[in-house]
Amino acid sequence: MKFYKKPVITALFILALMIKIGCCSDYSEASGKYDDWGSFSGNYFDIQVEPGVDLKFVYRMLTRRFYYANSAAHLGQFSDIKDKIAFRLDELMERVKQVLDIYPAGNFKVGIRIYKDRKGLNREYFDIFNAPADYKSFYIHKFQKIYVSQEDISDSLMAHEMGHVVVDHYFKVVPPEKIREMIASYVDLHLEDSK
Ligand SMILES: [Zn+2]
Repeated sequence: MKFYKKPVITALFILALMIKIGCCSDYSEASGKYDDWGSFSGNYFDIQVEPGVDLKFVYRMLTRRFYYANSAAHLGQFSDIKDKIAFRLDELMERVKQVLDIYPAGNFKVGIRIYKDRKGLNREYFDIFNAPADYKSFYIHKFQKIYVSQEDISDSLMAHEMGHVVVDHYFKVVPPEKIREMIASYVDLHLEDSK
C-alpha cells in the first residue's frame, strides 16, 4: 500500500507548489474582496466605495477648495450623490489636464477605491506590496487605480493623483519618480489659476 501512496502525495505537493507560485509571483489584488462594495462610474472613473463610507462627506471634501464654478452651474441637474461625485471627479480631471497642458491620446478609464479610513488603506497597501506604508492616497499604474480613504480625501489630494494618471498615460517612457512627483504637485499649486 505504501508504495502506491507516495506518487499521489508527490503529485499533490507539486500541484500545491504550482498554485502557490502562480498566485504570488507578482503583486496582485485579492479577488472577491470587494463584492459588497458600492460602485458607480463617470466618464473617467470607475469608483468603488467601502461599505460605511459617507458619500455626502466625500462630496463635501471634493468641493472644498477650488474650481467650483462649473460644479455650481451643474449641481441642479443631479439629485443622486453618486452622480454628483462622479461629475466632480470628471471635472477635476479635465482641469488637471488643462493645468498641465497634457492631453493623453485615446480614452482611458481609471479606478478609484475609497476606503473608510487610513487604517484600511494601509492594510490594502500591505496586502498588495507586502510592505508597510502610511499614505493618504496612492496610484498604481499597473492596476489603473487610485487608492484613497474617506479620512483623507480632498479635491487637492485627488488632483495630485490625477496628475500621476495623466503623466503615466501620456509619456511612452514614464519619467523618473522625482519628476512625476514634481508634475503632480504642480497641479495642486495651479489648480485655481485663471486660464
Ligand atoms: Zn504623488
